Amino acid sequence: MLIFKLIDKLAKEHSLTLDEYVQLVGNFDDDTYDYARRKAVEARKKIYSNKVFIRGLIEISNICKNDCYYCGIRKSNTLCSRYRLTKDEILTCCEEVYSLGFRTFVLQGGEDGYFTDDVLCEIVKSIKAKYPECAVTLSLGERSYDSYKRLKEAGADRYLLRHESITREHYEMLHPENMSYDERVRCLNDLKSLGFQVGCGFMVSSPFMTLKHIANDLKFIEEFKPQMCGIGPFIPHVDTPFGEFESGSADFTCYLLSIIRLIHPNILLPATTALGSLAVGGREKGIMSGANVIMPNLSPSSVREKYMLYNGKAFTGSEAGENLANIMASLAEIGYETVVDRGDYVK
Ligand code: SAH
Repeated sequence: MLIFKLIDKLAKEHSLTLDEYVQLVGNFDDDTYDYARRKAVEARKKIYSNKVFIRGLIEISNICKNDCYYCGIRKSNTLCSRYRLTKDEILTCCEEVYSLGFRTFVLQGGEDGYFTDDVLCEIVKSIKAKYPECAVTLSLGERSYDSYKRLKEAGADRYLLRHESITREHYEMLHPENMSYDERVRCLNDLKSLGFQVGCGFMVSSPFMTLKHIANDLKFIEEFKPQMCGIGPFIPHVDTPFGEFESGSADFTCYLLSIIRLIHPNILLPATTALGSLAVGGREKGIMSGANVIMPNLSPSSVREKYMLYNGKAFTGSEAGENLANIMASLAEIGYETVVDRGDYVK
């Protein structure tokens, strides 16, 4: 079958034409998914064997100056109850994260003006001083080149900034006019040139997304060569302009995880919270489709339900960092070993 041939080609050459990506993505069904998944697991095994890396996710603020149409913590959502963690609270969180065995701290948040370069650099430096063997990942949106440079110099190792859509028209349908596609791409290029391990990514089946858009995103991922890539299903939040749209599918997301693994066998690919929130066992399915990273939530429990990007976002059970033992057990059951280390990109 033609699609199997395309999957073989991708597994071997790690590249397809845009048209081939359209065909591959358009022919998602049980058989193509199963074939891609098996190839992806094989490719991942060669580099990372059966290891799954864990990251402790700390959501430091849900205050945001942006108004992304899909996001529950967008500025205009007046029903969102806002919070911001202090430096001390963040450091206390890191203690907990560390004691549970995590060696990467991911600080994620809205674009909150309180976190100036001075404030953030202080936080990053304090974390690195206390835990020199740990990696610090930031996911705090768009900042200037100088700001990223200072954060890198303060010790930050990695930065996650999803491109959201590499098709300009589509990007502009997801964001208000004061957000700029060019600026998003500029940020990703700056982060790369500064030596961060960079993560891009997108929501699967976000409103107005077409097969062509997905093909463009895959081609971008192929060419940009990010060290990480975050994809998860779009899930609506009622208090946003996209509240009435449908969620993406867990299986289709997993198919794309397999394809991304075949594009870049070395990539660090999380089975995201959105995937775990949408379907029972979603995260395990993501791992079985080629993902090799999980990022359980370790924000203080009092703020967890406030960082509500979409309805039904999981922050208890297997998405909660305190339950690491259960998470490890469920991954062990499917043949994966959760490792306690920084889990760096393998070149
Ligand atoms: N302010 C940071 C963090 C954003 S939240 C930044 O700009 O990078 C992290 C990711 O959650 C976003 O990049 C987006 O892709 C995803 N997200 C937001 N709303 C979502 C929704 N309704 N469904 C699924 N994912 C969503």
